[in-house]
Amino acid sequence: MAFDIDALRVRPGSKVDLSEVDPKSTPEWKADDDKAANRAAADARLLELNEEIEALQELLYAEGKQRVLVVLQAMDAGGKDGTIRKVFEGVNPQGVKIPSFKKPTKPELARDYLWRVHAHVPADGEIVVFNRSHYEDVLVVRVLDLVPKERWSKRYDHIVDFEEMLADEGTTIIKIFLHISKDEQKERLQARLDEPEKNWKFEPADLDARSMWDDYMEAFEDALSKTSTKQAPWYIIPANRKWYRNIAVSEIVKQTLASLQMEFPPAHPDILNISIPD
Ligand code: ATP
Ligand code: MG
Repeated sequence: MAFDIDALRVRPGSKVDLSEVDPKSTPEWKADDDKAANRAAADARLLELNEEIEALQELLYAEGKQRVLVVLQAMDAGGKDGTIRKVFEGVNPQGVKIPSFKKPTKPELARDYLWRVHAHVPADGEIVVFNRSHYEDVLVVRVLDLVPKERWSKRYDHIVDFEEMLADEGTTIIKIFLHISKDEQKERLQARLDEPEKNWKFEPADLDARSMWDDYMEAFEDALSKTSTKQAPWYIIPANRKWYRNIAVSEIVKQTLASLQMEFPPAHPDILNISIPD
């Protein structure tokens, strides 16, 4: 049965309550267990999706007329890096760019918050994946009071307008929120402490964000509710189970690319008459 990505989409104007979305659930997938048979089916499906995305990306690049922006947001250890690795496995690295948005630098802070983001939007034929994004400016910035409420509260409208402008100018936008539970985050952070090869990922500051979990959930709920539009929809991905997360995000990327009705550019008019000299 086909995977209906609409089941994960935030309807424009709806009010998101994240406590109603079970991070362990697997909507649109046949089984929600972690047994070997199901894992094998999921692995096989992911391989197929990888191949489909690879072919669609090549078409996007060859056609060179459309632009695709994928926005990825999650709590720390939410799986942004793993998702990027698994969903775009096999895709020609020349056609995908993945800017990450960290704490703003001085020159970035000296300008409006969309300036650094706008500089990285996709060009014709490109897929760009934002690893964090302008949404940090209504998430961490809001939770930590980095700018006064009068300023951040106006940003939802700016963001909707900015994304609408990008869409009007030919960019297809999809926004992905990887939803993990607080318990799952604890396990993943613990693994970063316990496993030597994961130690490098551990960041004490992640514990500060964890201690404000409820504030972050509220900020995410507001962002998801206020900025999911027809042209730039949010998808909420239950992300405790990595195998499901990879399939769900791949389905969204694949189905969105497939909906673009792309075509290879016409062949050179003389192509049938050309023979390659020895
Ligand atoms: P990883 O930890 O997996 O390497 P990451 O995306 O968490 O990836 P970090 O360098 O650990 O990367 O974290 C980036 C930090 O920058 C996050 O804490 C994020 O909230 C913060 N950040 C991003 N954008 C802004 C912003 N506009 N204002 C303030 N902080 C921001
Ligand atoms: Mg981090």
